[in-house]
Amino acid sequence: MRIGHGYDVHRLVPERRLVLCGEEIPYELGLLGHSDADVAVHALMDAVLGALALGDIGHLFPDSDPKYKGADSMLLLGEVIGIMRGKGYALGNADITIIAEKPKLAPYIEKMRGNLANAFGCGIERISVKATTEEGLGLGGVGIGANAVVLLEEIDK
Ligand code: MG
Repeated sequence: MRIGHGYDVHRLVPERRLVLCGEEIPYELGLLGHSDADVAVHALMDAVLGALALGDIGHLFPDSDPKYKGADSMLLLGEVIGIMRGKGYALGNADITIIAEKPKLAPYIEKMRGNLANAFGCGIERISVKATTEEGLGLGGVGIGANAVVLLEEIDK
């Protein structure tokens, strides 16, 4: 087994979509970034790459490459999952914490879990998505952050 951790933050700005774990969430602000800025999926990809000691997504999908402008982070996740399988690993489980003062994410959590379970081709019980605020002490509504931890299991040959 191998364990990995990922962390990411993006700034909230007007006139951008808010996409978290592949789910578009209606809100007056969205996350700024070169891709769709799905901060939760970015943290998750970094966790998978970290478990494999393969660097990070900035290395794999450089923001200097116009190919990734506005990219769907779920498609990038698909590429990372392909790399994981190529190395002989499957997802044991993933635990993601999204840090946001607003909006309320509870109504979208199950859809987010389903999106990620579909991407990995695993049962939803292997995917945890949680949301927390920082009681106004941290990002304070100017951004959204995410932490992800994964356990990867070597596939029996
Ligand atoms: Mg990012």
